Amino acid sequence: MPTPNDGIMVILSSPSGAGKTTLVNLLSKQDNFKISISHTTRQPRPNETPDKDYYFVNDQEFKRLIQNQEFLEYAKVFNNFYGTTRTPVIEKLNKGQNILFDIDWQGADQIKNKNLDYKLITFFILPPSKEILFERLSNRDMKDKLIVEERMKQFERDVLHWINYDYVVINDDLQDCYKKIHNLIKAEVNDGSKDYDLEYIRNHIEKLTI
Ligand code: ADP
Ligand code: 5GP
Repeated sequence: MPTPNDGIMVILSSPSGAGKTTLVNLLSKQDNFKISISHTTRQPRPNETPDKDYYFVNDQEFKRLIQNQEFLEYAKVFNNFYGTTRTPVIEKLNKGQNILFDIDWQGADQIKNKNLDYKLITFFILPPSKEILFERLSNRDMKDKLIVEERMKQFERDVLHWINYDYVVINDDLQDCYKKIHNLIKAEVNDGSKDYDLEYIRNHIEKLTI
């Protein structure tokens, strides 16, 4: 049975390239925050370390995990499967460790709908503009123009899911964005006052979607 000493779950989602992986890594430097390592069928990027960034598995292994009902959530994203196994997450939460999830909106919906007895805070990260998103994607996926194009197209659809998150944060200056998320988590945990302007976010979304 979960108790008040249990850890909390913090989900960061965003359109690809907005910066959630970078932010999750920064947030994990705080005491007691652990990143949930997902399984994926996609190929590793040159800078990625297996079993640290992801558990890279083939389709067959992923299907086996689905059949064994090992996933807390899983989804198909950009032609590959991604999923979070339940046991490591629950074990850490029961030990009082907080878990950071870098997952898409489908996974966030699934975890939300499970109504687990652990505190859950969800963040949706946005880029300052589409131009800057394009730059960040181009820098990261330099060799693959097709990936950049595909992810820019997907942006239009992904951005619509902002409405289902507790907080939407704009990742312009990295440190500012990190501090904003950090402060919101602190305020949620301590029931403190929250520095959050929903109207400003609505205006930003409007600018991104015209
Ligand atoms: P996501 O996980 O949302 O797909 P990443 O964290 O991989 O995005 O970030 C995409 C790229 O943008 C990376 O190369 C990262 O270093 C860079 N980046 C992230 N945040 C910022 C920022 N605030 N300013 C400049 N570059 C950033
Ligand atoms: P990338 O291939 O850029 O690492 O991730 C692509 C997308 O898959 C991102 O939106 C990322 O958040 C999402 N993702 C990564 N791991 C998981 C997971 O375990 N479950 C779900 N649903 N999405 C994931």
